[in-house]
Amino acid sequence: MKRLLAALGVGVVAIAVVALVRARQFTPRRVPVPPAVAANPLPGAVDRLVAAIRIPSVSPADSAQRDSAAFRAMHAHLVRSFPRVHATMRRDVVGKDALLYTWVGTDSTLPPIVLMGHFDVVPVEPGTETRWTHPPFSGALTDSHVWGRGTLDDKSTVLGVLEASEALLAEGFAPRSTVYLAFGADEEVGGQRGAAVIAAMLRSRGIRPHFVLDEGGAVVAGVAPGVRAPVALVGIAEKGFASLELVVRAEGGHSSMPPRNTAAGVLARAITRVEGNPFPGSIRGAAAQQLDALGREMSFGRRVIFANRWLFDPAIERQLATSPQTDAMLRTTTAVTMLEGSPKDNVLPSQARAVVNFRILPGDSVAGIVDRAHRVIDDLRVEVRLLGVATEPSQISPTNTDAWALLERSIRQVYSDAVVVPYLVLGGTDSRYFRDLTPNVYRFAGFRLEAEDLSRFHGTNERIAIASYLEGIRFLAQLLRNAAG
Ligand SMILES: [Zn+2]
Repeated sequence: MKRLLAALGVGVVAIAVVALVRARQFTPRRVPVPPAVAANPLPGAVDRLVAAIRIPSVSPADSAQRDSAAFRAMHAHLVRSFPRVHATMRRDVVGKDALLYTWVGTDSTLPPIVLMGHFDVVPVEPGTETRWTHPPFSGALTDSHVWGRGTLDDKSTVLGVLEASEALLAEGFAPRSTVYLAFGADEEVGGQRGAAVIAAMLRSRGIRPHFVLDEGGAVVAGVAPGVRAPVALVGIAEKGFASLELVVRAEGGHSSMPPRNTAAGVLARAITRVEGNPFPGSIRGAAAQQLDALGREMSFGRRVIFANRWLFDPAIERQLATSPQTDAMLRTTTAVTMLEGSPKDNVLPSQARAVVNFRILPGDSVAGIVDRAHRVIDDLRVEVRLLGVATEPSQISPTNTDAWALLERSIRQVYSDAVVVPYLVLGGTDSRYFRDLTPNVYRFAGFRLEAEDLSRFHGTNERIAIASYLEGIRFLAQLLRNAAG
């Protein structure tokens, strides 16, 4: 017994020593960078953004409600605002109002780069208009901010990329590699008539971009406990999307003589089984890379934990699973979103229907979701089928390539206080249509945001700080210089 205790003691000490040594070696990986030579935004940049916000280029759920005149007005605004861009680049209107700009490089042997964005916006949710401090399409300009729908998502990127290009052209900059600017006009309703068409065009021309950059992350402070530096989150993967419809059919009839289980009851049982069997979660892929990069920035005490994930993963996973935001990093999520049964209290439902939305972690698949639903529900009375268009999760873009190094360097040159961290995008972006053109698909909008700004995406009081907008333009100019210069 004594010998056993002694051996156990030695084992514990050995593990502690290993954990401490690993924590000591677990230090920030910040590459030194030369100072930025980014072009400064030209005068009037903020006014040009304001004018773009005032144009209600909304993608409504029902495409019949689409205001084509607003999209034509956006096109005209861009032509007026960026004369050098339009004199230098080829501009194609693609699909439904999307824009593809081609800035031909001087060296045709170099692979091109693709910068993406979208200038359609989501509608303002009816009933919330009065909650806006400034009306959503006013483009109100205060001392510190531009307000309105599209200031974050994603007119700031479209205008910002064009501002950066215009400023570089004003300096006489000519890219060595070709630059494509791909701007969707239907991203908020799936991008089928915008980014999908642009990607197909480039594919048919055999174009293999060095990298593709789309919206996604931002530079945000306070995203992780214990990390003092602002974090530049760069999306290296994004989740897939699938909705399953569950349908139970039965004899209708009067509710005074019901069967033991109505269609609604059978469906309810299926739903509790689906909800009661969440996908297993674990720290892997992009989430593992995110924790690795963040952990290195933490205090020694926390580094002991994050440097020794072989020991602490179960505890970290339990902690992450306590909040929906971080739990979604760990697993394919399950959300029962729609439910219908009988239209009247005394009528048996002849059909009961539910919809469950899944956001699919890289590694899982749409077919796997359907399979698992059948297995978990295990009831032949419940029909299970895919609803609408499903999207497979993306591959994980590498972080050991030239393209990543170039992006990281460009970020650090302009955001010198920031640490660059790869992460998993929980929503979807137009960049999904480009995944077979290059492994290097990154999602980073380039602006500095406050943590509280994140709830303003698609929400109320969307706004961008003027200083952030101008800094973002400098970043985009630096990136163009580094990537194409
Ligand atoms: Zn967007």
